[in-house]
Amino acid sequence: MSENKDLSFETLLLHNQHKFDSSNGAVSVPIQHASTFHQANPEQFGKYDYSRSANPTREALEDIIAELEEGTRGFAFSSGMAAISTAFLLLSSGDHIIITEDVYGGTYRMVTSVLSRFGIEHTFVDMTDLDSIRAAIRPNTKAIYMETPSNPLLKVTDIKAVCSIAKEIGALTYVDNTFLTPALQKPLNLGADIVLHSATKFLSGHSDVVAGLAVVKDPELGERLYTLQNSFGAVLGVQDAWLVMRGLKTLHVRMEHSMKSAQKMAEYLQTHPLVKAVHYPGLEDHPEYSIQQEQARGAGAVLSFELESETVLNSFVANAQLPVFAVSLGAVESILSYPAKMSHAAMPADEREKRGISGGLLRLSAGLENPDDLINDFAQALEKSRVKVQL
Ligand SMILES: *Cc1c(COP(=O)(O)O)cnc(C)c1O
Repeated sequence: MSENKDLSFETLLLHNQHKFDSSNGAVSVPIQHASTFHQANPEQFGKYDYSRSANPTREALEDIIAELEEGTRGFAFSSGMAAISTAFLLLSSGDHIIITEDVYGGTYRMVTSVLSRFGIEHTFVDMTDLDSIRAAIRPNTKAIYMETPSNPLLKVTDIKAVCSIAKEIGALTYVDNTFLTPALQKPLNLGADIVLHSATKFLSGHSDVVAGLAVVKDPELGERLYTLQNSFGAVLGVQDAWLVMRGLKTLHVRMEHSMKSAQKMAEYLQTHPLVKAVHYPGLEDHPEYSIQQEQARGAGAVLSFELESETVLNSFVANAQLPVFAVSLGAVESILSYPAKMSHAAMPADEREKRGISGGLLRLSAGLENPDDLINDFAQALEKSRVKVQL
């Protein structure tokens, strides 16, 4: 790995340790379907014995993500939630977690309805407020879980500051890096212990695979997470590992284009009279704009915006032609989603309201279309909604 440390990120996406197969020069990682491996003698087994424990194709992806996040060890899981849930198994009954209040809906469900049954307590906090994190600390606080920018309100957490609070009390720090990817943000370099990904999103990028990844820097923590990956067994299949590796090769160019589009869309939406608010950390009036500038290379490709009312929202969604209206984000096509009924449907309505996830909020993940086409499409859909409001 060390020979690659001078390469820039976009070059490393292609010229990493798996750029070709050492046995035959193939420039695509071979898909190894075998579930089991012949052992030459009973005294000493080879590197691979059974594919839940280790598989060469999955391992290639695990090596690559570890290198991209500048960690020492990567792990590939059957979904983002499998990665997150397995990483939570580092905790024990009686432990307490401090977690960002507008966390991904599936993570919310895992913490509130599963971990709680195993005696793992939690406190939701506004992670942008360091005092409220300190106030939530208990003697049994063993982990702080961040997601930044958060979903769907794009609040930005100061990763370094939160990690230093965690270090004072010896708690582990988790960062869900799905929205920015290592192309824009490297939480391990900011002091985090574990980086998590839904690779279903930007990393694979084509809305054709469900996958999750975890990366750590500390080798001892890596051993513990490996034991959990192998024990729980929610590993990523080899075809899917290959799809994520193929997607990764274009991560940088996709992110650059989508991020420029998101910026343009955010600026456009900000000027529209039917739009009450735009949440995007690339806007100078975003409350944590300077933290985002400091800890990441860009603001990412996801934004959310609030329409006047649910009536306007329904009309807008019915009239917008270009984006797919769907769950998920981080794809080649722009995706418009409705957090209250999609990603955050697992959250009770009053909890959603408390967090500012209103019935008029839409989330946009900018894809690879020409942003001017998207703006034209949004303009006509908003115009039709305006007419509707006047009636
Ligand atoms: C989608 C998503 C997840 C869950 O990942 P899956 O691959 O759907 O299991 C977790 N965190 C964030 C931020 C997500 O967007």
